Amino acid sequence: MKPIYVDNAATTPLSSRVLEAMLPFFQETYGNPSSPYSLGRRAKGPLEEAREKIARCLGAENNEIFFTSGGTESDNWAIKSAARVMACQGKRHLITTAFEHPAVLRPMEELEREGFSVTYLPVHEDGIVRPEDLESALRPDTALVSIMYANNEVGTVQPIAQLGAICRSHKVWFHTDAVQAVGSVPIDVKSASIDLLSLSGHKLYGPKGVGVLYVRQGLRLPGLLEGGHQEMSRRAGTENVPGIVGLGAAMEEARESMETESQRIAALRDRLIDGVLAIPGARLNGHRERRLPGIANFSFAGVEGSSLVLMLDMQGVCAAAGPACSGGKAEASHVLLAMGRSHAEARGALRFSLGRQNTQEDVDAIIKILPEALQRLRQLRGNL
Ligand code: PLP
Repeated sequence: MKPIYVDNAATTPLSSRVLEAMLPFFQETYGNPSSPYSLGRRAKGPLEEAREKIARCLGAENNEIFFTSGGTESDNWAIKSAARVMACQGKRHLITTAFEHPAVLRPMEELEREGFSVTYLPVHEDGIVRPEDLESALRPDTALVSIMYANNEVGTVQPIAQLGAICRSHKVWFHTDAVQAVGSVPIDVKSASIDLLSLSGHKLYGPKGVGVLYVRQGLRLPGLLEGGHQEMSRRAGTENVPGIVGLGAAMEEARESMETESQRIAALRDRLIDGVLAIPGARLNGHRERRLPGIANFSFAGVEGSSLVLMLDMQGVCAAAGPACSGGKAEASHVLLAMGRSHAEARGALRFSLGRQNTQEDVDAIIKILPEALQRLRQLRGNL
């Protein structure tokens, strides 16, 4: 039986169109794009075409797109390099939120150990950052603000254009981790006053191990990795040509299908929310409307999310209790704790992230299977 995969926020299956675009670059056009002979030049052309496609999807210029190994590297690069370059101007204050991905929180903690001070903005009960909280946290020595476009656990979408405008008016660099948002919602870096943006291929039906950091023209952001002259001398390392070509194809496909797919997926998500909320003891986490089309996160009284995931797996449903990068550890979600949920609620959470391959039948099957799984878990607990 094919599993019902509803963990698209962890990763997505590679689209066939993307795979087809990538295949020639493994064994035919395998040249190093920096090599001057024709086999190298034949790889360079498609790499630049991918850059152009991605720039077009974000409203950016080609020379503002830098290829990386994924969302984690892009976040680390943006945050560490921005902080260190601004420290030279005496600016050693950073602002972020309490519910960022670890790829943002861990670099922030590292910088704190180096003597930077970091303000963690509250995300309120609905999982939304308030622009006025940002406004009052800014200081004359603020170097960088990093706020995620959309949260990976609860799916809430932040008022990015408002937050960006505040940063721009205070001449503070603004980074957004848009790993979950790119491909699901339209993004325009210019109108949202974004200076730095991270994205990752494997969240939008592209390959794993490839991503982008958008760096606004004129921003003097030093590189993170030192070495060769690739990527306009700002990100060393031989380019992952098949991955980059795949990412370009994935972005293009997402742009073409976004309008119809996001409506279809949002309708499935709302059907799922209505169905799950009819179960006694279920609670939706995060703002009901201001969320990504695919993500719905619930807390269930009296159960552990991690046990529920295993129970659902036995019924052929792949969902998540927390981010995949937590390695399945049964920890209370820092995202839900930041939203004011109790430890019990944060441990009893389950995330469904719907995607292109999901159907109404999938949603209806989950609505049927879930109450049975919850009942079995509660019975097991009662027998202990
Ligand atoms: N940021 C967010 C919001 C994510 O959801 C993820 C992946 O789960 C990352 C960053 C890390 O991206 P990658 O897996 O490409 O390193």
